[in-house]
Amino acid sequence: MIIFGWRVVFFTLTRGVFHCPSCGGDRDYRRRQGRNFFTLFFVPVIPLNKTGGEFIECDTCHGRWETGVLNVPTTAQLAHMPAMLLRMAIAQVLRSGDYTNAAARSRAVAVVRQAGDGGYDDAGLTADLSRPFDEVRAEMGRAASALAPEARESILRAAAEIALIDGPLTVSEEETLSAVGADLELTRVQVTGVVSLARQDSGR
Ligand SMILES: [Zn+2]
Repeated sequence: MIIFGWRVVFFTLTRGVFHCPSCGGDRDYRRRQGRNFFTLFFVPVIPLNKTGGEFIECDTCHGRWETGVLNVPTTAQLAHMPAMLLRMAIAQVLRSGDYTNAAARSRAVAVVRQAGDGGYDDAGLTADLSRPFDEVRAEMGRAASALAPEARESILRAAAEIALIDGPLTVSEEETLSAVGADLELTRVQVTGVVSLARQDSGR
């Protein structure tokens, strides 16, 4: 008797480190893709079609994510961002939306802490929120030029992510993200790209 059938075999394409939304920290991942195989006596022998797209699997919790999850900065990446610039970008964007939103505030504090400012807290955020706009913008302009474009994009990305916590972006939040992007010396195209990626990943 010949026993045949088919099953899905998963292949690992690449490996790396990402921010796992489920574990809440940096974890090793595998970028994988499934492929249907014709099996003979339960052994896959003939490769058939590929199943679905590539996905990211966390080595620790085995959660599976769309590849867009790789765009979220890891804690290690955040550690290289000057915390001060991040604080200012976040405070400006938060101020243009609902800055009383508890989830947005605690995420803002967590992101700045990850960026190396370990003593940052909600009181520090309140102080940042009350700083004069023009003063903050001038400081940002000075600091931004020292950073690589990727780092500046990551800062805008973090600010956009926080702006999206309380719902879709308002006109005012969008305008502020554009202004912050300009202060970070990003082009209009870069700003649009970063903001739409953040939107896509938040599903808003
Ligand atoms: Zn995980």
